[in-house]
Amino acid sequence: MDETHNFTLARNRMVQQQIEARGVTDPMVLAVMREIPRHLFVPESYQSRAYDDCPLPIGHGQTISQPYMVAVMTELLKLKGHEKVLELGTGSGYQAAILAKLSRWVYSLDRISELSARAHRNTDACGVSNITFVVADGTKGWPEEAPYEAVMITAGAPTVPEPVFEQLSECGRMVIPVGDRYSQVLKVVQKIKGLKKIESYFECRFVDLVGEHGWLDT
Ligand code: SAH
Repeated sequence: MDETHNFTLARNRMVQQQIEARGVTDPMVLAVMREIPRHLFVPESYQSRAYDDCPLPIGHGQTISQPYMVAVMTELLKLKGHEKVLELGTGSGYQAAILAKLSRWVYSLDRISELSARAHRNTDACGVSNITFVVADGTKGWPEEAPYEAVMITAGAPTVPEPVFEQLSECGRMVIPVGDRYSQVLKVVQKIKGLKKIESYFECRFVDLVGEHGWLDT
């Protein structure tokens, strides 16, 4: 069996055993998780573990999130396909690629330029082109393209960054892990008549959202 075939088998197994088995049901989310070649988004030395049930290092002290976490967060965003999406924390570009398949356009921000450049190459390599990569402090959002119908934050925040909430459109949804530096709770923040409606889901652990409206760099 060739390598591509093995990766495809591993990916189907990942979706079935780690994602469907734990209750993710959105058929569109399951389909894109089966489609996007996650092994192209991890460093070569980790390729054989790309479909394992865990986050993996991507350099600069950052990680690509666990596949299940990517699936759950994407499902919670409830994308319909027409949205302009803001993602904070490009990392490997994997989550951006998943979002791009399910929406109109993704603006993905990271503060580390090397990660952003590599993520751009990764998404190009799998033929996803409706993403704009920006190197900036995402805690200030990206006012140039606001408002966004959906916001996904893939780093742990001390609070909902106010400028980002301001850039969310009315009835828009934001998925964000909020807590201290060691553990957070995954939340969905909706904007209803200009106010926050917050639902809390489960405990999780992300790397820090570092910036003016996040954690101070240490
Ligand atoms: N979504 C990524 C994983 C994110 S890891 C993936 O699919 O691979 C978290 C990322 O958030 C890191 O790359 C880190 O550099 C970035 N980050 C942390 N603080 C940030 C900020 N203020 N603005 C933008 N990116 C930030």
